[in-house]
Amino acid sequence: MRIHHESDTIAAISTPVGEGGIAVIRISGPEAIARAAGIFVSASNLLEVPSHTVHYGHIIDPDTQERIEEALITIMRGPRSYTREDIVELGCHGGLISVKKVLELLLSAGGIRLADPGEFTKRAFLNGRIDLSQAEAVIDLIRSKSDRAYSLALKQVEGLLSKKVRALRHRLVELMAHIEVNIDYPEHDVEELTNAYIKEKCREALAEIELLLKTAAQGKILREGITTAIIGRPNVGKSSLLNALAQENRAIVTDIPGTTRDVIEEYVTVGGIPLRLLDTAGIRETTDLVEQIGVERSKTALADADLLLFVLNGNEPLHEDELGLIEELKSRQTIVIINKTDLPIQLDIGLIERSFSSESIVYMSLLDHRGMEQLEKTIHAKFFSGGIESGDLTYVSNVRHIHLLQQARSALVEALEGADQVMPIDMLQIDIRNSWEHLGEIIGDAVSESLIDQIFAQFCLGK
Ligand code: GDP
Repeated sequence: MRIHHESDTIAAISTPVGEGGIAVIRISGPEAIARAAGIFVSASNLLEVPSHTVHYGHIIDPDTQERIEEALITIMRGPRSYTREDIVELGCHGGLISVKKVLELLLSAGGIRLADPGEFTKRAFLNGRIDLSQAEAVIDLIRSKSDRAYSLALKQVEGLLSKKVRALRHRLVELMAHIEVNIDYPEHDVEELTNAYIKEKCREALAEIELLLKTAAQGKILREGITTAIIGRPNVGKSSLLNALAQENRAIVTDIPGTTRDVIEEYVTVGGIPLRLLDTAGIRETTDLVEQIGVERSKTALADADLLLFVLNGNEPLHEDELGLIEELKSRQTIVIINKTDLPIQLDIGLIERSFSSESIVYMSLLDHRGMEQLEKTIHAKFFSGGIESGDLTYVSNVRHIHLLQQARSALVEALEGADQVMPIDMLQIDIRNSWEHLGEIIGDAVSESLIDQIFAQFCLGK
């Protein structure tokens, strides 16, 4: 597929909006260097400097010759650049006003337009530097909230998934070629052999797709985190647990714009697995709330969570509220944390053990910092059972990719069923071709222009 290549020169501020040490304006396209040279004075002639060099100088208003900014300029000539076009990066002082002014100067001189969100990466894709799944991984990379999610996205940017998908497609192409020969030269009459061959090849491809899909759930977890709620009566140790989690692990607090602080999300990583903690504000604020279980937002957190960390005080008998909760939590992904084990046990352990499997119960003393390792192991076992996790596995985490893999799988299943019923091989060929096409859409072969626009629109400006 070739989409006509837009050859405008584009520019955008590539660093986040706001105050910072420096801000970078990125320019890409055939006019990039000439346009930058038009507003930049330095000792060297930018039009002639070697590629991948940095130059010191000043940004000037070409009309008034007024000095606007002191800046460093980086010249990267295509095709050895992110977009494969000529790229200029202008590093100016980080104030919002100054960087905007420089951008305005560039745009007002003409010949350059403001880039759309994701347009730089879109060009990298259109110019064949990266494929679609890699481009999408760039979004994930920017948004990743844990080290694991980051390395997962990075692997995809490096093309790990693409490689697997390409290998799969290659197998299917070989199979299609084999079938084609039989359709074109039916006098060979190796139909019987072909049928067995098709089945074998389809099964092989199917197994690989299944393997990729198996990683999808874990991929999603690593990317988005396990939505987790810490629940329990007052004084059992919920905020101690929260602090312990946040202390041992780098906590990232995201303030979602337009929402109240009730929904502030906090991320912690436990043994490499990101937990998206719900209602942490609720836990921290409850000193003045006498009755905590039953408050409305705890219920919401409870309903939304994929994982519940149910904290109990081992030093007290079970409370009526807790008995009620046990019934509800039995059928959920719950880890029961029996805390305060440094004190004598007063809790009816037998009742807990009858209600939850022993793999779901963790004994802790948050005061003495005991049990954290066990909690990590327990979370890990709950979400990564079956030993699928491995450092070099490709995790499929993008919803679009998962959907396409599922379609590719269905098409192959149909081909297999057809082969079982000894359908004509040109019918089987259609299913195999469908599967091959769905796989192609993952890496951006045969995708529509509108889909491409939609994908790149998710990017931030300047990427
Ligand atoms: P929350 O109300 O559920 O958030 O409970 P907190 O985390 O505020 O803890 C309530 C009290 O129990 C505090 O005084 C803690 O110091 C204490 N506490 C927490 N964990 C332990 C523990 O493992 N052992 C003991 N002895 N005290 C603890």
